[in-house]
Amino acid sequence: MAHDTRERTPVPGEELGEAPWLAPRSALEIALAFLNTWDLLAHPPELLRGPDALRRFLEWIGRPASDKVTDADVKRAIAARERLRQAFDAPSEEEAVARLNDLLLKVGGVPQLVSNDGSWQVRYTTRRPEPTAGLLAESAGGLLAAMQDGLWGRLGRCEGDPCRCAFVDRTKNRVRRFCSTICSDRMMQAAFRRRRRLAARESRIDSASSS
Ligand SMILES: [Zn+2]
Repeated sequence: MAHDTRERTPVPGEELGEAPWLAPRSALEIALAFLNTWDLLAHPPELLRGPDALRRFLEWIGRPASDKVTDADVKRAIAARERLRQAFDAPSEEEAVARLNDLLLKVGGVPQLVSNDGSWQVRYTTRRPEPTAGLLAESAGGLLAAMQDGLWGRLGRCEGDPCRCAFVDRTKNRVRRFCSTICSDRMMQAAFRRRRRLAARESRIDSASSS
C-alpha cells in the first residue's frame, strides 16, 4: 500500500521539498515532521545536526527563520521536540491534551487565523523571537486541533524496525502500520527473507531426517 511520505523528514543534505519529501502543509503535518527529525533510520538519528540543518528544516516547512540560526537555537529545538514527544507519547488522551495545553501556555502561543488553500485555518504562533518558539507553538496547536477532531486514536508510530516515526493514520479501517513506503517496503523484504531462511532451514532438516 502506498503511504504518504510527507510525514517523514528528509535527512539534511537530501533534496528538500522534492518528491518523495513533500513539505508539510498543515500544523499537524509540521508537528509530525518536527517529531520525526529524530529518525532511527538515519545515521546518526539526530537530523537537527546543527544550525544549518535547523535552518533548512525551517525553510522546508515554510517557516524560514528571520534571523541567523545559532547553536543555542538547535539546543532549544531539540529540547522543544522532546517536550512535544512526551505529549505525543502520553499514555492517555487526557494526559496528552494536558501536556500540550501546558506547552502552549509556556511558549506563549496565540491563535491567528491564516489563509490556507482557499480556506481559513487557526494557527498558533508566539511573540518570542527565537524560531523554535513559533515551531513549538504551531506544533502543539496542530496536535491539539487533531485531538479536537477526534484523531487521538489515529496518531501512531511506525512499526518499522528500526524506525518509530510518528504518523497520523487516515486509512478507513485504521490499518496503517508504517510511516512511509520506505518502511513498509523494508519490512516486506525482511519478512520475505525470513520466510526464505525458514524454508531453507526446514528443507535442510527434512533432508537430514530422511537421510
Ligand atoms: Zn518508519
